[in-house]
Amino acid sequence: MIKKVIRKFSSKSLLRFLKKQENCKLSYCTEIKAKKRGPTVLVSGSIHGDEHVGAKFIKYFIQKTKSGEITLKKGRVLLLLANPLAFEKDSRFLDINMNRAFIKNKDLTLPEYKRAQEIEDFFRKKKIDYVIDLHSVSADDSKMLVMRYSLLEKLHFWLEKTKLDTVFAYHKGGLPGTIIDYFLDTHGAPSVTVECGNHFKRSAIEVAKHEVFLLLSELGMIDKEYRRRRRPPKIFEKIGTVKVGKNFKWLVEPKTGTKIKKGEIFAIDEKNGKQKAKEDLVLFMPTAQKRVKHDDHDAGFLCKEIDLNQ
Ligand SMILES: [Zn+2]
Repeated sequence: MIKKVIRKFSSKSLLRFLKKQENCKLSYCTEIKAKKRGPTVLVSGSIHGDEHVGAKFIKYFIQKTKSGEITLKKGRVLLLLANPLAFEKDSRFLDINMNRAFIKNKDLTLPEYKRAQEIEDFFRKKKIDYVIDLHSVSADDSKMLVMRYSLLEKLHFWLEKTKLDTVFAYHKGGLPGTIIDYFLDTHGAPSVTVECGNHFKRSAIEVAKHEVFLLLSELGMIDKEYRRRRRPPKIFEKIGTVKVGKNFKWLVEPKTGTKIKKGEIFAIDEKNGKQKAKEDLVLFMPTAQKRVKHDDHDAGFLCKEIDLNQ
């Protein structure tokens, strides 16, 4: 059990702060702009409303740039509190997972679809060069970068200096409806999710700072130097999903990093029967057993570790 440093998180004052700082035609969006032209980076946070690290990072960034402790040399940074309604309630979402809501034909009566549509409309004609979507967790402390497999090469500079030891790489269609997929496919912007770890730990905000400032420094937008890693991070390619049916049960520990041997049965339910590993696999982002609903899309992802130098 992780000791909760912050006993009860109150979103109210943070929400008030972010509302006051809003300066775009999209609610809870703040633009910080340098005099000199340059790249545009969108930082989105708290698309899952109970993941505070995104909102906290946005506040930190606004305060530091306003006080002059951080100077943006060129370009602009857009800071977006993605799901303010769920954030206010400190709940993952109100109706649906907003990080699956960036799809065509949304049901606009549902708040998450409505918000996703507002975001799409606002950014439609804007040039966005990079997107970082900040996430955190309350149960364990998993930290990783998540990106489309095709970006591994392009974002090599990032992988050389990231503080995160794990990269989850998925193929097109592997995480449909996510905000990073949306910006990659519509704006061509390399878009990355940063899982910052447990938001009750101080390290989560440090991870957010490191990864965002690393990108800004590589783009020449801030003055900061980052050292190269000694060893590259481990890269896990998503090759499948854990299917879900009635009376779903995990037969392995539902934890990111759980190794599943070839031939091992890792889950069972009434619809799919026994799910057996066709090769050695590693489990990613599994849903806790009591939270798996039989109409969920999946209960987790199956990956294999890859070596890019091979
Ligand atoms: Zn999340």
